[in-house]
Amino acid sequence: MGRGRAHGGLTVTGFSDHGRDGGESPPTALFAAGDISRRIESLAGDIARAMGPEFVLLCVLNGAFIFTADLARALAARGCRPRIEFASFKSYGSATESSGRVRLVGEFPGNLSGERVLLVDDILDTGRTLLTARMMVEDAGAETVATCVLLDKPARREAPVEADYVGFAIDDVFVVGYGIDYAEKFRYLPDLAHISG
Ligand code: 5GP
Ligand code: MG
Repeated sequence: MGRGRAHGGLTVTGFSDHGRDGGESPPTALFAAGDISRRIESLAGDIARAMGPEFVLLCVLNGAFIFTADLARALAARGCRPRIEFASFKSYGSATESSGRVRLVGEFPGNLSGERVLLVDDILDTGRTLLTARMMVEDAGAETVATCVLLDKPARREAPVEADYVGFAIDDVFVVGYGIDYAEKFRYLPDLAHISG
């Protein structure tokens, strides 16, 4: 067991306010590593049945890197052999509010023409990122595009998009941990947590 700190009866594993993350309210646990892992096993079963062994797993960086890594291994255990690609989009700076613009950062993967693509993102919030990414995959000539997000905040939706596979639906809270940052901090936390103010 890692070190933890209790908040309202819950513990965020790996968080210590004696570390380099001081200065703001500490994260409060939302989903523990074990809950995430069990949910991913279930999602992987659904995805493997629907997608079959060969497809492209397109990870939206940076926040989905741990989710994609765990999902890919759960899929491999079910006989899937996805080609794993990456694309980076930015809609947040260091703030907790979206700028409203979604920008591709760096290269978009080639060779998506005729492929069945599963697009994987960390959080479906306003929907602008997933919609932009999905349109780019379609424009690249993919045969089909399915979408998978770890977290969905339905109350925040502005763009007309829903995900085919959702880990957890949550309220409008700002999430960190399990790959997801606040100003590049907290990505290392094994649990999903939320921060306030
Ligand atoms: P959308 O384009 O749907 O508004 O936002 C999607 C992206 O915004 C996510 O991929 C994620 O990078 C970021 N985002 C949305 N909600 C949160 C949050 O609660 N915490 C963090 N760290 N990023 C978020
Ligand atoms: Mg993201």
